[in-house]
Amino acid sequence: FKLIEGEMLRKKLHNENLELKGNIRVFCRVRPFLAEDDSNTEGKVISYPTSMDALGRGIELAQNGQKHSFKFDRVFIPDVSQEDVFEDISQLVQSALDGYKVCIFAYGQTGSGKTYTMMGKPGDPEQKGLIPRTLEQIFKTRQFAEPQGWKYEMQVSMLEIYNETIRDLLATNRSSLERTENGTAGKQYTIKHDANGNTHVSDLTVVDVRSAKEVSYLLERAAHSRSVGKTQMNEQSSRSHFVFTLRIYGVNESTEQQVQGILNLIDLAGSERLSKSGSTGDRLKETQAINKSLSSLSDVIFALAKKEDHVPFRNSKLTYLLQPCLGGDSKTLMFVNIAPDLSSAGESLCSLRFAARVNACEIGVPRRQT
Ligand code: ADP
Repeated sequence: FKLIEGEMLRKKLHNENLELKGNIRVFCRVRPFLAEDDSNTEGKVISYPTSMDALGRGIELAQNGQKHSFKFDRVFIPDVSQEDVFEDISQLVQSALDGYKVCIFAYGQTGSGKTYTMMGKPGDPEQKGLIPRTLEQIFKTRQFAEPQGWKYEMQVSMLEIYNETIRDLLATNRSSLERTENGTAGKQYTIKHDANGNTHVSDLTVVDVRSAKEVSYLLERAAHSRSVGKTQMNEQSSRSHFVFTLRIYGVNESTEQQVQGILNLIDLAGSERLSKSGSTGDRLKETQAINKSLSSLSDVIFALAKKEDHVPFRNSKLTYLLQPCLGGDSKTLMFVNIAPDLSSAGESLCSLRFAARVNACEIGVPRRQT
């Protein structure tokens, strides 16, 4: 009983802390060691200092004899289950049903666990990721809200941004999925925002959905579309941003209330730097496009946090697409995914610094290890 009480207190403190945090939160998730990682480095790179860790928020990275300390809204250690991670974001999912615009990003180098966090492991229900769990929660909550007079309509779209061009992953017309020689999409999509803050992507497929099952079918279709691009271009889906959007329209006929919420779940392209991706030619262009859009994203979040007059939304397709869902009274959560092995330490430090910039919470000056 005491344990449960302690856990509830921790969650309460944690949630209060999150409530106070404004509109952007950053959660850090460290993936477990995998068979392919150098097991000699296990426990030597990433640690969780207990003094800072009462609420599960501190993380330390050791590299070249220096320790770098960071503090985020939440740090998930490797053995935290998908279910527990989801529990910490379920409030945010509820916000979308209440009419908020919500964005959840997964950021990190390739192999750090972004897709695992977002989608999970196919075929293993316990390892389902945030997207399937979110949909289950949304459709379940909808069922409970119906007896109170609420009726909801939901629409899904899924797209990929590769080399600053959009691909409609639900397009049934195969030619829409094809790419030109240089890897950009054959078809050009334009983004427009209307006066009500709604985003329109020309010709993008938007599908009405009534159940989580229907959406999982669409997710499979999108995964197939991504793989069509892969074989044509021999490129990895980790080189593009994947944007899943659920639009929610709710009407309560008895109280005449209306809500319009949007939930964007975004699996970002791998954040590895030029030196790591060994880029030349097309790869170089690809990496530059990714770096540009990821730094635009942090510039936008930074400008919003500082309440600057000019927010550079137009600097990348991703930020322009998401403009109405970033800032204002929208809610943003960024997962920074970290691989725990030594060969990833340089990239992990970059990811933590990126996230700390977004969260403005890097603490402590790097100090010599004793
Ligand atoms: P990314 O999308 O960042 O390239 P992945 O999500 O594909 O990385 O993860 C790389 C590998 O690590 C995959 O085999 C995935 O199943 C595994 N993995 C990542 N995070 C976890 C985790 N928290 N628990 C178990 N396995 C994980």
